[in-house]
Amino acid sequence: MLKKALLFILFAILLVVGIVLFKTFQFTSVQTKVVALPAPAISEASLQHFQQAIGIKTVSYGNPALFDSTHFLAFRRFLETTYPNMHQRLTREVVAGYSLFYKWEGKNNSLKPVVLMAHQDVVPIEEATQSMWTSDPFSGVVRDNFIWGRGTTDDKINLVSICESVEKLVKESFQPERTVYLVFGHDEELGGKGAIAIAQLMKERNIIAEMVMDEGGIITNEKIPGMKEPVALLGTSEKGYLSIELVVEIPGGHSSMPEKETAIDILTKAIVTLRSHPFEPQFSDPMQGFIKSLGPEMPFVQKMAFANPWLFKGLIISTYDKSAPGSAMLRTTIAPTIINAGIKDNVIPTQAKATVNFRLLPGDLSADVIDRVKKIIGDDRVKIGRLGTTIAEASAVTPMDGYGYQKVEATIKRSYPNLLSSPFLMLGATDSRHFGEVSDNIVKFSPMIDPIGFHGIDERVSLESYRTALWFYEQLLKDLR
Ligand SMILES: [Zn+2]
Repeated sequence: MLKKALLFILFAILLVVGIVLFKTFQFTSVQTKVVALPAPAISEASLQHFQQAIGIKTVSYGNPALFDSTHFLAFRRFLETTYPNMHQRLTREVVAGYSLFYKWEGKNNSLKPVVLMAHQDVVPIEEATQSMWTSDPFSGVVRDNFIWGRGTTDDKINLVSICESVEKLVKESFQPERTVYLVFGHDEELGGKGAIAIAQLMKERNIIAEMVMDEGGIITNEKIPGMKEPVALLGTSEKGYLSIELVVEIPGGHSSMPEKETAIDILTKAIVTLRSHPFEPQFSDPMQGFIKSLGPEMPFVQKMAFANPWLFKGLIISTYDKSAPGSAMLRTTIAPTIINAGIKDNVIPTQAKATVNFRLLPGDLSADVIDRVKKIIGDDRVKIGRLGTTIAEASAVTPMDGYGYQKVEATIKRSYPNLLSSPFLMLGATDSRHFGEVSDNIVKFSPMIDPIGFHGIDERVSLESYRTALWFYEQLLKDLR
């Protein structure tokens, strides 16, 4: 009897091992092989133009009173004078005061247009970090093979590279196959009113685009566990955004005679409870695409895990869960961001308030998230309200077999050697989230390699990145069939 049981267990183990190995060997590359063409060197003029663009302080401040229109007008003039051929050939509309909307008529009107996006504005330099920069954030200095300054990575590399490529091609009397729209918003870092207005304009004009391309994923050489080759991460969806307010109001009083529970106690307990109940990890569509695209390229053990998520899902999750960005790829995140209570050291406040920010995985709807929060906190004394203006559900997922993904993938592989590609879930927000009604094919990708200091100190992008971006946009515009 025992022998039979042992034999059965042995058989079961062999079966599982057999299935795992079979699936691993069946898990073959889906990467399209494209031979890269060497990128030409950056011309002195192109480099200067990028540096000049960094020098113009198109800053988006949280406080609207600090908005300085002169910098945005200077940036517009800079574009007009630096790219005269582009401004002669393309039509341009100024929308929402400072956002720019260009149209470059294509040869073939039966083909749907494409939209290339980039934003003019940059985030401010935090007062406390000013002295920590190793050079003036608005100098655009070139040092150690990098171009340094606020806006180099986000997002002037894209804006300048697009303009450089268009200018060059117009000069050569080139006309694109499809009509090309350029959308340069002026307030992406504040939610994108400019981009919203341009998307609205396109809808009114019944313009449906074959593809929209905006900033997003990057080429990375080191950040994916197990990967040795460089990988282009093409954003195919963007997480949703929801902020809620938790409010507790119970009578306060003198701090010499505290009640068993105060408003602060109840609120902080609610936050701790919420944080200790993270959302379940899930493989969203972009994550499944990531597994399918990169799994077969990985060393054997990782490949085996990715080939058999039915068995190793837990292992994959625990690997990616270790880092904050990895964890954010797998679940709707919960982040308390503001907390307020009390006015004096000897007064127990009547009201305590907190703001909690959620970034929603595709498929997690804001209404369901709020229901879940109520259930987890499980305390009626904590009132839960949405914070008005910034709610957005996760964007639709761009299909990997659609025109947009295929075109961007092929073009970046032609622009940078030995590159693998993968879909990617964008954790941050971009202007292109407002274009869901303009196109089903929205690709969020910035053709640069491991940029540094995004939104932070010593923001910089390598010369190799700029060279790649220039080459990428030129080849893309030339190949819009
Ligand atoms: Zn940006």
